[in-house]
Amino acid sequence: MREGNVVLAQPRGFCAGVRRAIGIVERALDLHGAPVYVRKEIVHNHYIVSELEKRGAVFVDSEEEVPQGAVCVFSAHGVSPGVRSAAASRQLEVIDATCPLVSKVHQEAVRFARDGRTILLVGHEGHEEVEGVLGEAPDRIVVIETEDDVQRLGLPNDTPVAVLTQTTLSFDETERVVEALRARFTDLITPGDDICYASQNRQNAVKDLARDNELVLIVGSGNSSNSLRMVEVARDHGAAAHLVPDEQHLEAAWLKGVSSVGISAGASAPEILVDGLVARLAELGLDHVELQRGIAEDVVFSMPGRLADPLTGRVPQTPLAGEVSPAPGGAR
Ligand code: SF4
Repeated sequence: MREGNVVLAQPRGFCAGVRRAIGIVERALDLHGAPVYVRKEIVHNHYIVSELEKRGAVFVDSEEEVPQGAVCVFSAHGVSPGVRSAAASRQLEVIDATCPLVSKVHQEAVRFARDGRTILLVGHEGHEEVEGVLGEAPDRIVVIETEDDVQRLGLPNDTPVAVLTQTTLSFDETERVVEALRARFTDLITPGDDICYASQNRQNAVKDLARDNELVLIVGSGNSSNSLRMVEVARDHGAAAHLVPDEQHLEAAWLKGVSSVGISAGASAPEILVDGLVARLAELGLDHVELQRGIAEDVVFSMPGRLADPLTGRVPQTPLAGEVSPAPGGAR
């Protein structure tokens, strides 16, 4: 057996918005009992969704699928005002797990639309977060993804514009798009800090991993935007990199000639999946594990007041450990 190093990124895995969203579904199940309906995947991770399903969460694509008057959680990615009013007309008991940093982008969209600006939203068309923000002012928002899209915009250069971004984009790539917009529009404003702290911290840690290791593995699901961006960032900084939903997706061929592997995890990926990957790598001879020197995050978002204990009136804390509680009999 050969020897090799594994370096674990710091920080990695769950962010404050994901911990809060998972905690909200768990708390809703405790308070109301099963089923609790959740519109869309609460966070983009298949393991989390399946563990919550075992506990009685029912994931649906649309609020229209939720029975009249039932409890319905909105996912961390946010929803448009149209979804809110459709839920209200079905008398759903809504519990909103939208990440506060996504809600902030919604508020900015409303403000800039009210000011009469055209909003250029940098993000991925069709992503739930983008759909939600778009719904705040559909007539005033244009979604763009790349520098090429900037050139294709059919707007006069003196149009008053405001630039917003999806929270989980690549920081460096988005900077290039925003620079292209600044070069093109004469009346442009941007809050400039929409890419959230968790995405930025994980991307910065991955840049260091990519410099120091031949291979970088990012634990995350294929529909997780921030995980996919972390793979791109690793590749941009010189490492071979792959997205690994769990250890079963590790391909031995990737390790050929590799003596050091960096591992990180997207903001929606639980640590249990990282543990599984580390154990698999140890079986393959990469059994010396180090922790990257990096920043410690201490961001915590409070839980909605409507989840307060009916007897004591106390609102529960967002779980700090950052793990979904395994379903009875479903631990792995
Ligand atoms: S990745 Fe950022 S925006 Fe998304 S839930 Fe986490 S903290 Fe919120």
